[in-house]
Amino acid sequence: MYDKKTLYTFMKRVSRFFRDNPKSVRIEKIREVEVNPVTKKRYCLAGDVDYTPHRGKPRIRIDYRRDIVATLIHELVHYFYDDLSESKTRRMESALINQLSKSQVRHLLKMLASRL
Ligand SMILES: [Zn+2]
Repeated sequence: MYDKKTLYTFMKRVSRFFRDNPKSVRIEKIREVEVNPVTKKRYCLAGDVDYTPHRGKPRIRIDYRRDIVATLIHELVHYFYDDLSESKTRRMESALINQLSKSQVRHLLKMLASRL
C-alpha cells in the first residue's frame, strides 16, 4: 500500500511544509491526556495538530519527551491526509518510518531543527 512513491511524495510535501510554514512545529511538554474510545485506556498525547490557522499557519506540537521523529511523521500524516482514521494514520506512520533512509531522517531532523 505504501511504496517508495508514497514515501517520495510524503518527503516532498514535508519539505514544502517546512519551507512554507516556519515555526509551525513546536516542541513542548504536552500535559493533555487522551482516552482511547475502544479500550478506555488513558494515555498522554505525544503530539497534535491544530488545524485552526494561526496567522494563516497550521500548528503542530510535539512532546520532546517522546519519540520525536515518529511523532513528527504521525502529525504530518494527520495534516496532509486529514481524512485518514487514527489507525490508518498509525499504519502509514510506521510504513513511512520503516522506509526512511538514514539520510532522509537526517534531512527531516535538520528541517525541524532549523524551523524551531
Ligand atoms: Zn494521531
